[in-house]
Amino acid sequence: LSTRLNVPLKRFERQLQEMGFEETNGDLILNAENAGLIAQELGYEVIVDRSDELDIKPRPPAEDSSILPQRPPVVTIMGHVDHGKTTLLDWLRKSSIVDSEHGGITQHIGAFSVTMPSGKVITFLDTPGHAAFLSMRERGANVTDIVILVVAADDSVKPQTIEAIKHAKAAEVPIIVAINKCDKDGANIEKVKNDLSVNGVDIEDFGGETQVVCVSGKSGMGMEDLEEATVTLGELLDHRAEPDGQVEGWVLEATTKKRGRVATMLVTRGTLRPGDIIVAGRTWTRIKTLVNEHGEEVHCASPGQPVEVDGWRDQPEAGEACLQADTEDRAKRAVDYRIEKYQRIQQAIDMEAINKTRRLQREKEEREAAIRATAIEAGEDPEEAVIKANRELERNTQTTIEVPLIIKGDVDGSVEACVEALQGIGNSEVKTRIIRASFGEVSEFDIDHAAASGAYVVSFNLPKDPQMFQYARQRGVNILAHNIIYRLADEVKEKVQDRLPPRI
Ligand code: GDP
Repeated sequence: LSTRLNVPLKRFERQLQEMGFEETNGDLILNAENAGLIAQELGYEVIVDRSDELDIKPRPPAEDSSILPQRPPVVTIMGHVDHGKTTLLDWLRKSSIVDSEHGGITQHIGAFSVTMPSGKVITFLDTPGHAAFLSMRERGANVTDIVILVVAADDSVKPQTIEAIKHAKAAEVPIIVAINKCDKDGANIEKVKNDLSVNGVDIEDFGGETQVVCVSGKSGMGMEDLEEATVTLGELLDHRAEPDGQVEGWVLEATTKKRGRVATMLVTRGTLRPGDIIVAGRTWTRIKTLVNEHGEEVHCASPGQPVEVDGWRDQPEAGEACLQADTEDRAKRAVDYRIEKYQRIQQAIDMEAINKTRRLQREKEEREAAIRATAIEAGEDPEEAVIKANRELERNTQTTIEVPLIIKGDVDGSVEACVEALQGIGNSEVKTRIIRASFGEVSEFDIDHAAASGAYVVSFNLPKDPQMFQYARQRGVNILAHNIIYRLADEVKEKVQDRLPPRI
């Protein structure tokens, strides 16, 4: 507590003694009330956390989930632009219609389910791309169980492919690779496999665990195999959830329709029914109707099933957690508590910004007063002195962000060429700094050095050693490998630009 209150231990102990505590050694355990009193005495505003009483929380995880029923896996499709994400989703969506008696309509509600001939169900998130995945993850919503990574057979691994691999790995979500456009003449499946392997995907053909399926979203070739592979992986992952008890889920999308405010909710625990009361973020609903992706009213939604839910008092936001409340009163109380908490946090943030501005202003005034005094004493123009001093200060405080590089090349000549091309890229705000340049292959030492100094390793005209790439990934180091100098320079320029401070 003394650390949290920013008070030296000695002073803290003295405070305790003054307040009548007898034992003030490290063994003393304070209850919440006393801790609050001490904090108050030390000048803090005490806010009692009443979230247990007022807020709604999820129930603890099941003790033995192996006895619960399985739920469908939730799948997100990711990959480089134009590699076929939308085309694959369209095919899958159609297969969801063919399987049922829905008369061929699907509405976009953010997700849809496909029932396999075996009766197994897969739920696909209907928003391709990384932004949706990331914005969910940023809110702590790990809704995805499996990522289908689409790679076009005629284009192979591209920057957004690599980014998708990175996100899936960071979220610890297993990948299934769909090599798409296998119908095309320029398809080079072996190249895709090699490139994936170089980029850290341990594909089956090379002894790894990641399944690879060759498909064509256009002709439908291999698509059933892709669905099967997804079901198989789903079985292996064996996600299970309670079909009863307090309902939990996530908001996938929210919008306004004729029925009013609606949100697609992916149920993760319990079974959702009309009449249920759900709190999501700072809003709540008593559900009138549940509508599935075919626009049909349904009586319930179980774990893994997406449904559109109406009746929201305010618009919820995608990525927010949904929790069932017993009564409307309980829901209102939770929402009020959350609104109050949100406002308190906002106020604290505002106050901090205001205080900082005030402090800086005060410091500036004091500094300028001192400069004026010195100038007057020396018989100089005080205002001119202030302007001069401020200009000087501006120049000195403009610090340049550096992008450090470690350059490796095949021969001395190419190392020199790289140094020439890369040094000085940037401007007064961000620029490259070469910390080492030598010939020879990228070594573990280079990667360790880069990891320690936050540098990129530049590998020019060198064979790509998968083991070194693997090691670099483990250490969080980016190797920029190129054989053409202007491409290398372009990529370094991009990296430098990425580091530019945001403009306000
Ligand atoms: P996205 O940007 O990843 O969503 O890619 P799209 O699904 O929009 O596909 C990009 C382009 O590739 C479109 O013109 C599609 O018609 C085409 N395309 C997608 N899948 C295939 C395929 O399997 N074979 C062929 N030949 N073209 C495809």
